[in-house]
Amino acid sequence: SPVIWWVRRDLRLTDNSVLDRAAKSGRPVIPVFVLDEVFESHGAAPKWRLGLGVEHLAERLAGIGSRLILRRGTAQVVLEGLAAETGAGAVWWTRAYDPASIERDEGVKSALTGRGIDAGSVPGHILVEPWTVETKQGGYYKVFTPYWRAVKDRDVPAPFDAPTELRPPARWPDSDRIEDWGMGTAMDRGAAVVRPWLNLGEEAAQARLAAFSGDRIDGYETQRNHPGVEGTSGLSENLTYGEISVRACWHAGLRAQEDGKAGAATWLKELVWRDFAYHLMFHTPHLLTENWRREWDTFPWNEDEQLPEVTAWKRGRTGIPFVDAAMRELFVTGRMHNRARMIAASYLTKNLMSHWRIGSRWFEDTLVDWDPASNALGWQWASGSGPDAAPYFRVFNPVTQLDKFDKDRAYVTRFLAELSDDPPAPALAFYDAIPRSWRMSPDDPYPEHPVVDPKEGRDRAIAAYGNRDF
Ligand code: FAD
Repeated sequence: SPVIWWVRRDLRLTDNSVLDRAAKSGRPVIPVFVLDEVFESHGAAPKWRLGLGVEHLAERLAGIGSRLILRRGTAQVVLEGLAAETGAGAVWWTRAYDPASIERDEGVKSALTGRGIDAGSVPGHILVEPWTVETKQGGYYKVFTPYWRAVKDRDVPAPFDAPTELRPPARWPDSDRIEDWGMGTAMDRGAAVVRPWLNLGEEAAQARLAAFSGDRIDGYETQRNHPGVEGTSGLSENLTYGEISVRACWHAGLRAQEDGKAGAATWLKELVWRDFAYHLMFHTPHLLTENWRREWDTFPWNEDEQLPEVTAWKRGRTGIPFVDAAMRELFVTGRMHNRARMIAASYLTKNLMSHWRIGSRWFEDTLVDWDPASNALGWQWASGSGPDAAPYFRVFNPVTQLDKFDKDRAYVTRFLAELSDDPPAPALAFYDAIPRSWRMSPDDPYPEHPVVDPKEGRDRAIAAYGNRDF
């Protein structure tokens, strides 16, 4: 009987354990993507990007004589129906770790198992399963460095090749057409602008990994902090949708390290930060929605998303060039440099004293590399409410940070039209991406004063923290 490969955030043929197992079973394989309750709830940019990734995978599958069947609805209902329709005896998928997916997957598993179908998951999205890393006391890790020490020497299976063919079923079930799903509807505003910046699909991801790990990784340690240069891998978008496996990245990093590439050790650590975010999300799922440190519940956050300074933050009009360039980069490219994410998040949560959830929701709607665990951990790190977070008194100074990390102003010039007489294309592209209702023009003068002065904002935040017990 056929095997259903339930495709989710594993949009690749190479080093895909589920697909490998299905291909090697010798049984007909039916790859299925379900636009289900979890994916329907995604923000505009992630949903749009997911749709493009799914389309791309369908082309890849066609290249090996297979197909991607598309269905929409509640995962459990769709998969039960499809299994009955095709006579499938097995439904396999790559494991997910966020609470919504876990709940969905448990429901699917018990419903299918109840019908005598072999249903279950295989690891593949992260390096190390969250429950296999324990402190001496038997708990989970809350601090990165000891977590890193605990996992850095783990054996990570070497990546393997894609199957060259997949046995088709005797009859293919019907498929929806992805165009009819409108996965990019909410992305109308910026799709055309963001599209050229994407690195879509597994071949592009592999090429990027090869280029990075063969060369640029050497200078990663220092270059990664400068948003004006291409110092990082840019692979987060692909890792998010599983267009490349993190195991492939890990092994490429190890090889670079053996070749004496100086930055490789730091890059491997960053890959483990991603795993650490999953470790924490799995053990403390409230990381996604609540202050991870509960004592922060009484902090006087602004939770009003409509405040003018929050609007200015979203639109890159705070009057702080580093923050504004970051927010424009996000709108134009669907991504944001890590240093810029830290600065933009620190300014919103500390200088503006707005709740990190406001920022995390905005990122969730606009990032093409949106990842529930890394995004929540990043925000809670910046605001101080998270595990292993920046201490409350460490408020980034966005002015001195600019002098340090964008000395020649390459980054702010690239993304802020108001700062130059002859703005470059990325800075101008912002105005093609934004809704008309924002009424912004490249000829607007740059704000004379910041919405909140960094020093005053810092003092206000520290005073508010200072009145508390933590
Ligand atoms: P590289 O520097 O080349 O690193 C390689 C890979 O390691 C990345 O692709 C990523 O998967 C992982 N990684 C690197 N840094 C981190 C980190 N700090 N935390 C977790 N994983 C990391 N990353 C996302 O993938 N999705 C998000 O939604 C996201 N939101 C963030 C929000 C905030 C407020 C902050 C401060 C950080 C966030 N990050 C997020 C982490 C980080 O900024 C990005 O992973 C990184 O900028 C991606 O660029 P890159 O692929 O070139 O990374």
